[in-house]
Amino acid sequence: MKDYSWRDQLSRRLTSAADLPPGFRLSANERRFFETDQKLRVLPFNVTPYYFSLADPRDPRCPVRRQVMPTDLEFLHKPYESDDPLCEAGYTVGPGMVRRYRDRCALKVTDRCAAHCRFCFRRYFTGAAKSMLTTGQVKRAALYLAKHPEISELLLTGGDPLVLGDGMLKMILGVIRGKNPGLVLRICTRTPAVLPQRITPELCALLAGNTPLWVITHFNHPKEITPESSAALERLVDTGIPVLNQTVLLKGVNDSEQTLARLFRAMAALRVKPYYLFQGDLVKGTSHFRTNLARGIGLMRRLSRRVSGICLPRYAVDLPGGGGKMLLERLDVKRVERGFYIIDNYAKKLYKYPKE
Ligand SMILES: *Cc1c(COP(=O)(O)O)cnc(C)c1O
Ligand code: SF4
Repeated sequence: MKDYSWRDQLSRRLTSAADLPPGFRLSANERRFFETDQKLRVLPFNVTPYYFSLADPRDPRCPVRRQVMPTDLEFLHKPYESDDPLCEAGYTVGPGMVRRYRDRCALKVTDRCAAHCRFCFRRYFTGAAKSMLTTGQVKRAALYLAKHPEISELLLTGGDPLVLGDGMLKMILGVIRGKNPGLVLRICTRTPAVLPQRITPELCALLAGNTPLWVITHFNHPKEITPESSAALERLVDTGIPVLNQTVLLKGVNDSEQTLARLFRAMAALRVKPYYLFQGDLVKGTSHFRTNLARGIGLMRRLSRRVSGICLPRYAVDLPGGGGKMLLERLDVKRVERGFYIIDNYAKKLYKYPKE
């Protein structure tokens, strides 16, 4: 495949069934998504040619294909699912700013992504895919952080911050850094996996100039580790930027011991530390991707005996209702009430997560 520049990759994205190559056979579930009214499609189809080239055109079960090809299963809603399962609206302290913890804050700088992941927990935000923060809003965020010195870390997230151009990123980093010199920054991005061309030497230099800054990537399957994505990760690490990876546990994509062991070992070999393995959030239309908690816990237990400490992430769930992240190694699986696990968070408040 021709290696287009990242901007070319973005402008050549596949966004409708008409963009699919002639040899691509839609499954019945995939076809029904495209036949359904646009208005019902919360998260539009959107994928870079690079990432799409990794998908098997003949096999709808391909782990890359399942992550980006929509199906009508997304129209299925469970009673305990919601648009905003983490209650981000209730923890918003300014435009795009979510503060759930005393010492950390997240700033959603854009609702755009290079590719749409079908399991996205922010799908009701990301699905709009049309806005980014203004300079004024970034200034407000910088001021808020300066007034709250107890916040020591800021996550730049979205959407995907790295779909923004270098100029915009430079503005955001400059405004925030200008008022908060010691703040630890984290850039949460899926671009190394879905748009590795974005990790240019110029971008690496810009990020390295804003230390302390960490990059948190999002790889879910060993198939995503290609010469292009490996080179992108190595460029970041070689520039001196610490890189961590978060993975979402996805039914039928990566919920096997072998697949996760291969992924985590490959990450460690690229000098990227597996940080979190996330249990699926209870967002509307994603139940076909969720593994049950008992299975996830069993998987992690076996993995912890099989791979080294640097390969092993922490298995966590973002508690529905805004309870924050909870390490599932701590879960008492015997506390079940009417089909729900009862979980208490760091503040000893009780939350429920379905057993199914
Ligand atoms: C996940 C998250 C964080 C970071 O949590 P860590 O456990 O430190 O990775 C911070 N703020 C919000 C709103 C989050 O959702
Ligand atoms: S890159 Fe992140 S925010 Fe964007 S669609 Fe994927 S999971 Fe959602």
